[in-house]
Amino acid sequence: MAASTVGTGAPPAPGDLSGEGSQGLLEPSPEPKQLPELIRMKRDGGRLSEADIRGFVAAVVNGSAQGAQIGAMLMAIRLQGMDLEETSVLTQALAQSGQQLEWPEAWQQQLVDKHSTGGVGDKVSLVLAPALAACGCKVPMISGRGLGHTGGTLDKLESIPGFNVTQSPEQMQALLEQAGCCIVGQSEQLVPADGILYAARDVTATVDSLPLITASILSKKLVEGLSALVIDVKFGGAAVFPNQEQARELARTLVGVGASLGLRVAAALTAMDKPLGRYVGNALEVEEALLCMDGAGPPDLRDLVTTLGGALLWLSGHAGTQAQGAARVAAALDDGSALGRFERMLAAQGVDPGLARALCSGSPAERRQLLPRAQEQEELLAPADGTVELVRALPLALVLHELGAGRSRAGEPLRLGVGAELLVDVGQRLRRGTPWLRVHRDGPALSGPQRRALQEALVLSDRAPFAPPSPFAELVLPPQQ
Ligand code: URA
Repeated sequence: MAASTVGTGAPPAPGDLSGEGSQGLLEPSPEPKQLPELIRMKRDGGRLSEADIRGFVAAVVNGSAQGAQIGAMLMAIRLQGMDLEETSVLTQALAQSGQQLEWPEAWQQQLVDKHSTGGVGDKVSLVLAPALAACGCKVPMISGRGLGHTGGTLDKLESIPGFNVTQSPEQMQALLEQAGCCIVGQSEQLVPADGILYAARDVTATVDSLPLITASILSKKLVEGLSALVIDVKFGGAAVFPNQEQARELARTLVGVGASLGLRVAAALTAMDKPLGRYVGNALEVEEALLCMDGAGPPDLRDLVTTLGGALLWLSGHAGTQAQGAARVAAALDDGSALGRFERMLAAQGVDPGLARALCSGSPAERRQLLPRAQEQEELLAPADGTVELVRALPLALVLHELGAGRSRAGEPLRLGVGAELLVDVGQRLRRGTPWLRVHRDGPALSGPQRRALQEALVLSDRAPFAPPSPFAELVLPPQQ
């Protein structure tokens, strides 16, 4: 499905969650069906009507659906898929499960946001939300927790003592007035149905479903009443979809469903074979996000922040071209204005103002003292001479998950200081015996299988040293752009 082939009818106004925009798309069902019948229909490859989908979502939210029924429906959708219209209706039904956010009229063209399908070391949102605020935007970001092996923006922010991701719609408006951006979680008021399905997908092997990812992401963004949205769709060994073709299909579905619901969405395809930046793990990623907002930090992170931000400023009419938009974001990183917005956001979301100040003005070493730290550090050495071809993100993420950086059960507390620092860059020449990875851990020493998995993540070659490529691959634009 090409992004430009959908959304050609008159779309509902952005933020119109009445459901009327989709009336007539699907035949309404005369009698509400029971959940086992709906599950059977989808299991057997049938198409669900608007009433069927709304009935399922209502049962999820009002508690009448049993966990087993939710899991079975998710698996049926994962295996049989959904067409564009079913996906649109599911997106709307999830969005309508809570409150629609409403903003002052004057903000209408300023409201923008970014979301990612999930990666390893991906701290872009922490940097981009304040950078966009510094460029004059309002960013009411509803974000997620770790899903599968991927990290979650909310978990990273919660490693900052006092940071509160639970904010009411009224509090969000106050945050946007004070800081220009906020990063919050879905809640009983905000897209509650996605909260339930998101947690269920995490434990039922149904994360990698195109319609479920689309509805999950876009429902959260639909309630934000945005002028424009950019979605970072990852592909590669540590992405939900390793294959670039599949990721492109997801990107086109996100853009197409967004357009059919009156939301201007662009999707960037970006590589996720190696971790983004050098730090992986909740508190460590906050440190690296702060470095990026110092105008420093790893080039691949800065590159992605400025590319996604540039696309968003262009899409929302704040910049004449993507390149001009990227230059404005880069300036906000270099002149300290993004960092200033981040400090204001921290203080407004519950962090002690003195701590927020110290984090944003301190040196990297001082910052490390202020954030949760793991008890031990353990280094791994290069097993041979060679050029670093790749550091595979997936095995690294899986080991860190075992060490407590990610959850195995919903609601489980995380070890926020656990993580890893890459001590080498892709393309760099390495001598045998040189430390290439520093693992931060709380528990006992790494086990044999863990060390082996980590050592196998380092791929060396005989090539001459080379400049690492940008993670950005292509941009899928909405129909009229
Ligand atoms: N982010 C979300 O909010 N949902 C998904 O399914 C994947 C990434």
